[in-house]
Amino acid sequence: MKNIKDYTLQALKNELINIGEKPYRAEQIFKWLYQENITSFDEMTNLSLDLREKLKKEFTLCKFNILKKQKSKDGTKKYLFDVLDGNAIETVLMSYHHGYSICVSSQIGCKMGCKFCASTGIQFARSLTSGEIIEQILAVERDSNIKVSNIVFMGIGEPFDNYDNVLNAIRIINDPKGLNIGARHISISTSGIVPRIYDLANEDLQCTLSISLHATTNEKRSSMMPINNKYPLEELMKACKDYIAKTNKRISFEYALAKDNNDNLEDAKRLVKLLKGMLCHVNLIPINKIENGSFVKSTNENIIKFRDYLNDNGIVATIRRELGSDIDAACGQLRKKNLKNCKEEE
Ligand code: SAH
Repeated sequence: MKNIKDYTLQALKNELINIGEKPYRAEQIFKWLYQENITSFDEMTNLSLDLREKLKKEFTLCKFNILKKQKSKDGTKKYLFDVLDGNAIETVLMSYHHGYSICVSSQIGCKMGCKFCASTGIQFARSLTSGEIIEQILAVERDSNIKVSNIVFMGIGEPFDNYDNVLNAIRIINDPKGLNIGARHISISTSGIVPRIYDLANEDLQCTLSISLHATTNEKRSSMMPINNKYPLEELMKACKDYIAKTNKRISFEYALAKDNNDNLEDAKRLVKLLKGMLCHVNLIPINKIENGSFVKSTNENIIKFRDYLNDNGIVATIRRELGSDIDAACGQLRKKNLKNCKEEE
């Protein structure tokens, strides 16, 4: 059956016309879905009984079940959702002084193979639909009784390996009649799928682009991120410069610091050279431990030294707060599970 949350407002209008209904009904439905966050068609009380029955026959509401919920000392919550096909994914809710932020997954598993990330090494199942991306937000809002103000596409998966669905989801999130979250409050992070960077530059969307950089030479970057073999640093940086020129928007570069791997002064110097003159910001992430991972977090002293070197040399850099690491909810620690394993763990 069709997932009603897969449709933008215009697409839902077309669906309604196809079943002989008036298009303005789509606006009423959007209000129930995204502002009231209802979980059954029967709650759509301004629609006739007849229309509600018709909708039930055509569409599902794709309501995720919560399999597990963990709360960190710092207030971060990690949800494990049953996505209704035997797979499970993780979504993280973070609370900041300026509101709530959600880290959504875009795929069930990931094909990128980054050596430092827990989403690697588990078999890739499939991409999520836009409705499934949206339902992560709605399910968290229902359970925690909050409204989210920021969305980051930094959960499981490579958003640019599921480009169309991610963009469609962003349009629904962004729509004033949908979730009504401004594009400036939405970030997409990519491991560096170069053609999609050029595509995003042409989308006329105000969301923030984050690039997982993590290294300053092709040799090092390829050893950490296999995608670099396909799209090496020169091509990646060229695409980033083109993106900035076209959109006049700042790019955020993520750089996870691992001890004796990419955290010495030579690395910092090369990073300055690579980014000099670009409209950008560097987000330093103390690398998080993962099961069987070989990377060790840099010392605090080194992380601060690295940041100060960048700042002293004209590159704005900040250290990302480590939220949720005690419940494995921090960057790179999310993984897909299948229902059978989840039950065994409980
Ligand atoms: N696939 C996308 C988005 C998911 S990851 C991407 O690669 O950008 C979100 C961020 O967490 C990325 O910058 C990723 O490189 C980083 N990350 C992955 N594993 C990490 C780890 N163990 N410690 C710190 N950051 C990590």
